[in-house]
Amino acid sequence: MKPSSVIVIGAGVGGIAAAAHLARRGVHVTVLEKNAHPGGRCDRFSRDGHIFDAGPTLFVMPLVYQAEFASLGVSMQDLLQLRQVDPTYHLAFDDGSGLSLTSNLKSMREQLEAIQPGSFAGFLRYLEEGNRHYELAMRHLVNRDFRTASEFFNLRNLPLLFSLKPLVPHYRNMSAYFDEPRLKAAFTFQDVYMGLSPFEAPSTFSMMSYTELAHGAWYPQGGMYTVVEALLQIARSAGVEFVFEAPVERIETTGKTVQGVILGDGTRLQADAVLANADLPYVYKDLLPDHDLAEAQSHKRFSCSTISFFWGIDKPYQALGPHTLFLADDYHENFTSIIDNLTLPEHPSLYVHAPARLDPSMAPAGQDTLIAIVPVGHLDEKGGQDWPALRERARDAVFARLATLGIHDLQDHIKFEVNYNPLSWHKRYNLMNGSTHGLCHNLMQLGYMRPRNRHPRYHNLYFAGASTHPGTGIPTALISARLAATRILDELGLYPGDTR
Ligand SMILES: Cc1cc2nc3c(=O)[nH]c(=O)nc-3n(C[C@H](O)[C@H](O)[C@H](O)COP(=O)(O)OP(=O)(O)OC[C@H]3O[C@@H](n4cnc5c(N)ncnc54)[C@H](O)[C@@H]3O)c2cc1C
Repeated sequence: MKPSSVIVIGAGVGGIAAAAHLARRGVHVTVLEKNAHPGGRCDRFSRDGHIFDAGPTLFVMPLVYQAEFASLGVSMQDLLQLRQVDPTYHLAFDDGSGLSLTSNLKSMREQLEAIQPGSFAGFLRYLEEGNRHYELAMRHLVNRDFRTASEFFNLRNLPLLFSLKPLVPHYRNMSAYFDEPRLKAAFTFQDVYMGLSPFEAPSTFSMMSYTELAHGAWYPQGGMYTVVEALLQIARSAGVEFVFEAPVERIETTGKTVQGVILGDGTRLQADAVLANADLPYVYKDLLPDHDLAEAQSHKRFSCSTISFFWGIDKPYQALGPHTLFLADDYHENFTSIIDNLTLPEHPSLYVHAPARLDPSMAPAGQDTLIAIVPVGHLDEKGGQDWPALRERARDAVFARLATLGIHDLQDHIKFEVNYNPLSWHKRYNLMNGSTHGLCHNLMQLGYMRPRNRHPRYHNLYFAGASTHPGTGIPTALISARLAATRILDELGLYPGDTR
């Protein structure tokens, strides 16, 4: 009997992992990627001996990686050389004070008590809540495939409305633990990774700061792109075929079935099912014929974007730690500018990554590689955002912040600069609105209400990746891939298993 065939659109983390799951079960899988190499947002480039991770720089939720690699039949430790990064971040505040987030409780006690006497007890209670949210959310929301509304909206899930505090804004919830605004900021900024402001994010997301501290932030030697290389190795050895520089122009449909895809050069490819890893709202808008559904997607809430700078530096800045976060005093105003006004805050919070602190091979000997990420509003469909001017302002903000740490001469030592803005994210990876994290994770875009892993109209069109269930981030993309692949296998009748 001829094996079932699946076409995967996009070789992002979710696409490669889903392809590997399917191929391991005997499906003939072809991955079509518009770019010349795999990885999508988890991209890498190098120049003059400097190596840059273009997107992700933080390996968090290690237990999820471990479980997902195991579900692909391999041990994560065999493919990735991981080291723990502790302290995870150094936080630098506007008043010159700092906080190094670490899993060393003695150090946390000393630092927290110096900022707000008595706050260590609040911190321990906050961690307890984060632990509860992590365990419950992973079990009941993230690691589940909600195929019907009743699987989500049922009496059994009702207690989650109270235990996960989805209706309480995260920042407001912080008052139960800390008075000091710097500490409220220190344990809520991670909501940006979900594309949200802590002033609207559900308190459920205390799970993010919890996992960073309890399970650690890690670094794979060679950078985050080694995760892509590991997945690629698994997929290739399972027999997945990859075709690069193969942009899909259209998904062919007949009635409620998809037949296959048409490539940019007119080639027609057929398959029993199609799995789209490309950004879901883009797929609805550009690859499918249903304007009503595309319109509905485009009105959903999108995450923010970034202006990112990649610098090759001719001398090392050893005093700069691997992950430094500058948190602005006008924390609320920062989010309003980014999320409501779709622009760059006057005085932006920002992040600087120095990978050579963790892995000297990321820069030539005696030099440095720096990445600065400045969150900014996503593309405004009305236009009107002056990206060259915003880029200049963002760059000046990075220099000014580094000067507060005693680094005054960076401009004189930059050998070259590469920069990305929301237009770049849009053009490179077809991300709708240039939103780096896809659809955001507000209450109305979580669980069953997030676009699901199967299209509502076409029974053999599936999705895996950041804008679909369960959401953004590499660990979540791996879960999304497994859920989508399991559903395909179930529905092709190949794998009547159930990983829900
Ligand atoms: C700046 C930044 C920082 C981040 N930091 C972190 C972090 O520290 N930790 C973390 O875990 N996550 C982080 N993320 C999020 C993480 O990178 C993403 O959630 C994850 O990589 C998304 O993977 P995905 O499976 O959705 O695929 P994507 O990366 O979206 O890949 C989809 C692929 O589809 C391809 N494609 C699109 N259209 C077509 C077409 N028509 N035909 C063929 N191919 C097509 C694209 O080129 C792309 O390769 C960050 C992201 C960014 C941008």
